[in-house]
Amino acid sequence: MLSWPNVYMPPALAGINHPTLALFDSYKGKKVAISGDQNSIYVCGITPYDATHMGHAATYLAFDLVNRYLKASGKKVSFVENITDIDDPLLERAARDCQDWKELAASQIDLFREDMTALNVLPPNAYRGVIESMDDIISLVEQMIAIGKTYELEGDIYLDLQQVDGAIQDLPLPLEQALIIFKERGGDPQRVGKRHALDPLLWKARAGEDPYWIASFGEGRPGWHIECTAIALKNLSKTNPTSITLQAGGSDLIFPHHYMTALQAKALTGVEFASCYSHAGMIGLDGEKMSKSKGNLVFVSKLRQDGVSPAVIRLALFADKYSSDRMWSKELLDSAAEFLDRLLSALSRQEVAPTFEVVQELVNALADDLDTPRVFLALSNWCARTEAGQMGGSPGEISRALDTYLGITL
Ligand code: ZN
Repeated sequence: MLSWPNVYMPPALAGINHPTLALFDSYKGKKVAISGDQNSIYVCGITPYDATHMGHAATYLAFDLVNRYLKASGKKVSFVENITDIDDPLLERAARDCQDWKELAASQIDLFREDMTALNVLPPNAYRGVIESMDDIISLVEQMIAIGKTYELEGDIYLDLQQVDGAIQDLPLPLEQALIIFKERGGDPQRVGKRHALDPLLWKARAGEDPYWIASFGEGRPGWHIECTAIALKNLSKTNPTSITLQAGGSDLIFPHHYMTALQAKALTGVEFASCYSHAGMIGLDGEKMSKSKGNLVFVSKLRQDGVSPAVIRLALFADKYSSDRMWSKELLDSAAEFLDRLLSALSRQEVAPTFEVVQELVNALADDLDTPRVFLALSNWCARTEAGQMGGSPGEISRALDTYLGITL
């Protein structure tokens, strides 16, 4: 799948110290050091309908910060993102709107690319659709069948979780709650004949008019979680001691999607899938959950049409911690625009307060689980010092740091 154009990222300022990046791991419940020199990152991409709402933007901007930080600190990063271009919600949406599902997907993928380009997000090294990865997915299911960890139910193929060490014992939430969320997010816990209610579907047998692919084990299409397992294992180079460094996405993917993706990989490779599992919080609107069903989604493309600059969108989404659930509002956008004006005004002065230590503080804050509120505090204090007439800094150092680490090009 075509990615989006490359983005220039200025190198880090000479002399800046880059502490090891620590990210909060949703399963371990604590921060984990991202300390390797070679990093493989997998971020779950969109299902191509309703692109690109602020929840999407918040997620991809958060992990763009990770990509930028690691690269600025001299680490190698291989970054892979998928696009779920065949999935029940996509088919349902297309049917509801009497639209061809392929056309709907293609138009939304184009829109997503435009939005990511406008938002200055570093493109992934590989941007992979499920359809173009079908051979890899089928091959992975074949391997799962060959090692005897699957079973068949009326042509559908399931992973037998009880054959994967710790799969049921180490659930990230109580079983009762897991069953409810599993069902809400496309699972089928009540299906008669399943060995365990949470066993994930690897392959769904051909049904009705639904699109299907031909595999040695039957015609059909893949389950959701196996797609990401296959795309990640195929496209990312192996790290040590886990298969990849980081699996990331929105917090609605903690369970079951990322949990199952990781288990499936572990079932095959015998090692833990990722060293860290990091999740971005959900974005609501004016005190309410933002959702398709409520019809209150805010879109990046609409904001762009309204003349909102991508720098302001970034600043608005970075005002609070990436991992917190937060609200989008007109006030948030206005205060981000005001902050940008204040920064621009300070940066336009000939004499500015010392800058090097501000850049170092910005870097230290990002290294500590992407603490963007702390970054804002450092920048706002620097503006205040500059406004008070302090001198000795170089405005170019701040502009460059904003570009390198925060993706904000002034
Ligand atoms: Zn995924």
